[in-house]
Amino acid sequence: MTQTIFEKIISRDIPAHIIYEDDLCIAFLDISPTAKGHTLVVPKQVYINIFDIDNGTFMHITSITKQLCEHICQRLSATGAHIVHNAGTSAEQVVPHFHMHIVPRYDDDEIKFWPSQKQQHDLVALAEVLRRT
Ligand code: AMP
Repeated sequence: MTQTIFEKIISRDIPAHIIYEDDLCIAFLDISPTAKGHTLVVPKQVYINIFDIDNGTFMHITSITKQLCEHICQRLSATGAHIVHNAGTSAEQVVPHFHMHIVPRYDDDEIKFWPSQKQQHDLVALAEVLRRT
């Protein structure tokens, strides 16, 4: 089966700017950063996205993401951050290997990250459909 670009980074077949590694995951700088310090946290085992990753690995990844987010923001004097996971092509996932984005934010960085265009929905009906009992 064809390897993902992230598997090649994990196996050191292609270079990356790795900032953290343990038995289950690796973190490296995004090659095309949205902001200074943009980092990807990636499990070593291949899962496509949140719809197929197991809970244990997901919890480890989220724990490491939190620790690295705090570390990156402190080291780079970032004042905020986005934690993003794109799941599926409709959500603009490009690399089919689970990853969390850590995107540090800085005062006055003028990045527009969140869509300003809002939708209107029947929230009462929607909550009825979605409520878990
Ligand atoms: P996504 O759209 O959520 O699948 O994001 C994939 C991310 O992987 C993008 O932000 C890319 O810039 C990043 N990326 C792709 N190839 C590499 C690479 N060789 N090293 C580091 N980051 C990469």
